Amino acid sequence: MRAVVYHGPNQLLVEDRPLPDGPGRLVDVEACGICGTDLMIFAGRHPRTRPQLVLGHEFVGTLLEGVPESGLEAGSRVVCYPLVSCGECDACQNGLEHVCEILHLVGIDSPGGMARFARVAPEALYPVPQDLSSAVAVQVEPLAVCVHAANIAEITGDERVAIIGAGPIGVTLAIVLRQRGVKRIVLSDISLQRLEIARTLGFETAKAGSDLSARPGERPQGFDVVFECAGAAPAVTAAIAHARTGGKIVMVSIHKMPQPVDLQALSFRELRILGTRVYSRAEFRQAIDLLPSIQHDLARLVSRFIDMNQAQEVFAELNDGATDLKVVVKCRPNPEAPGGGG
Ligand SMILES: [Zn+2]
Ligand SMILES: [Zn+2]
Repeated sequence: MRAVVYHGPNQLLVEDRPLPDGPGRLVDVEACGICGTDLMIFAGRHPRTRPQLVLGHEFVGTLLEGVPESGLEAGSRVVCYPLVSCGECDACQNGLEHVCEILHLVGIDSPGGMARFARVAPEALYPVPQDLSSAVAVQVEPLAVCVHAANIAEITGDERVAIIGAGPIGVTLAIVLRQRGVKRIVLSDISLQRLEIARTLGFETAKAGSDLSARPGERPQGFDVVFECAGAAPAVTAAIAHARTGGKIVMVSIHKMPQPVDLQALSFRELRILGTRVYSRAEFRQAIDLLPSIQHDLARLVSRFIDMNQAQEVFAELNDGATDLKVVVKCRPNPEAPGGGG
């Protein structure tokens, strides 16, 4: 079978590999999304990745063997819950399996699904509706990240919200919050192209560094909740600056280095900073349930559908600053037709 394989920094090859063996069920993959984590692996900046890895954790396909334990039949359309927890550490024992001390991910620590076929543990298989496009179905995983962030923020719909960073996660989060009834959402970014995409989806936007909170003629006021989705030091500073007194700052991006935080602002304005990491199984399911109602917005995030053999070139473009929000790799000749192709 063909697979997109990481061979070292900036080196992806499409290789002919034997069908994956071992435990788990075989999935005939139709498509796989490219995620920020994949781009970090490609750049050689992911500490756990080793060469010869088949990439991809955002994939959808057709289950070739049934799972009697969970009632999943062969032929079901499925996505993969990519987190693997130990079940024994303190976090796992306290119901926080998603922040397991030795959390592993499919497509990072074990072969992923940017390939013609993938083998997936039975407990990681989740059914998705047949009638969603591949472009939408591959977005369950980043959507789950956003569902988790909204849950941690305890969003009720009455909040005024700012999102720092209009990349794929920032924009997806805005879609989730709008669906939850949040009326005032402002996205900010340094990239004007990304803000333009957010505007075409109907969101209010502001250039990073400008005053996000004031509409023309309005007095500036802080936001009830600020989501930091940019992963850069200035974004952390901006998130704190834009939160109202008593407001919340939710860290959605994962920082690779410690960042300075204005603790005086935290004390003086009684701000709360909340950390988030991936999602629970319940939130992954919540994301699947949410897909049909926001599919039209999610479909618009996908700017390109590429063949496996374009991966090297497109990964390089994305790491070079291409403004695509989501690029999807076709793993089957005709992935848009659910269940079709071969
Ligand atoms: Zn992802
Ligand atoms: Zn654990």
